[in-house]
Amino acid sequence: MGVEIIENVPLAPLTTLGIGGAARRFARVETVEQVIEALAIAGGEPVLVLGGGSNLVVRDGGWPGLAIQLAIPGVRIDDRGDHALVTARAGVPWDDFVGQMVDAKLAGVECLSGIPGLAGATPMQNVGAYGQEVADTIERVRVLDRETGALETFEPAACAFAYRTSVFKGSERWIVLEVSFCLRRSNVSAPIRYAELAKALGIADGERAPLRLVRDTVIRLRRGKGMVVDAHDPDSRSAGSFFTNPIISAAQLADVQTRVPANMPSWPAADGTTKLSAGWLIERAGFEKGTVRGNAGISGKHALALVNRGGASARELLGLAAEIQAVVKAKFGVDLVPEPVIVGRACEAEKAGKE
Ligand SMILES: Cc1cc2nc3c(=O)[nH]c(=O)nc-3n(C[C@H](O)[C@H](O)[C@H](O)COP(=O)(O)OP(=O)(O)OC[C@H]3O[C@@H](n4cnc5c(N)ncnc54)[C@H](O)[C@@H]3O)c2cc1C
Repeated sequence: MGVEIIENVPLAPLTTLGIGGAARRFARVETVEQVIEALAIAGGEPVLVLGGGSNLVVRDGGWPGLAIQLAIPGVRIDDRGDHALVTARAGVPWDDFVGQMVDAKLAGVECLSGIPGLAGATPMQNVGAYGQEVADTIERVRVLDRETGALETFEPAACAFAYRTSVFKGSERWIVLEVSFCLRRSNVSAPIRYAELAKALGIADGERAPLRLVRDTVIRLRRGKGMVVDAHDPDSRSAGSFFTNPIISAAQLADVQTRVPANMPSWPAADGTTKLSAGWLIERAGFEKGTVRGNAGISGKHALALVNRGGASARELLGLAAEIQAVVKAKFGVDLVPEPVIVGRACEAEKAGKE
């Protein structure tokens, strides 16, 4: 079936933040053929690939070209004895997928319960939480290369997965069509590597727990932080964590340590770098949970989530983000990097510096 193109479609309702202007043109695609057709229709105009809109800030002036919402459905489970190769097409809602895997007694993604968005977006920033990330189980990623028009398969090494990033993040070259995961047939989880989760499960770090219990516990912990999208929880009108946890060199760490109390949380890595807690730095910089800036603010449950308190503009939200970045930099010398992808045009009033 041909692709239907709709003019002037507001993007805010298609994002979890509920912020931003309209797309000049919009298409919802359900097959690979429709993706190819939509790209041909776009011609030279800019293309925005849209998943569930949960890691996206759309600026107030909207998207000047074609927004293509990927809605390709389908999950395929190929048996491999004590494992299964499970392929999720790009449009499968991620948390439905995790629930289906837990029901099928397939282990490896259970700690990623409750994360919004679609399966096709998970390789973009190597989605992760509670000690698990998709890079742990991804076996291959099937993409459409927009430069060559070819369908290609990426093995994990070519994906360059790292903390909240991959070769795909920030590149417009590849459209992810499907993601295949190698999952273990078991009713118990992978070893739990996250102290808060292990404690909530009543097990020691590194022990395993029943898949269903892990899923339910992760969702409960996430709800307590406003990290499950819920129309009744205004703290969940966010893009999740707004900043990644900074990873700094030994020299930078020595500098930061002269400016902070000795109890600063930090996680040294084998390569000599250290990961800091962005949420901790933000709170110590004076931005408490529940901070308000017009219609934007910081979640009352999580210092790392910026929220739309109702009717916020992208300008307000990004203004608060910039304020946080400037104060954290001035106080601690640390650069905070936004985790969501920021797209679109500023509106005319913003460009002119007035509103
Ligand atoms: C309440 C909340 C909690 C969250 N918790 C977590 C968490 O614990 N861990 C975590 O890692 N993330 C978390 N996130 C962020 C977000 O859910 C994930 O990054 C998710 O994978 C984004 O999926 P999406 O389909 O919504 O992508 P979108 O927001 O629609 O898109 C994000 C980016 O990926 C691109 N993109 C999307 N799909 C494709 C595709 N198929 N091919 C090519 N490009 C594509 C878009 O163009 C855009 O640049 C959270 C978000 C919210 C709102």
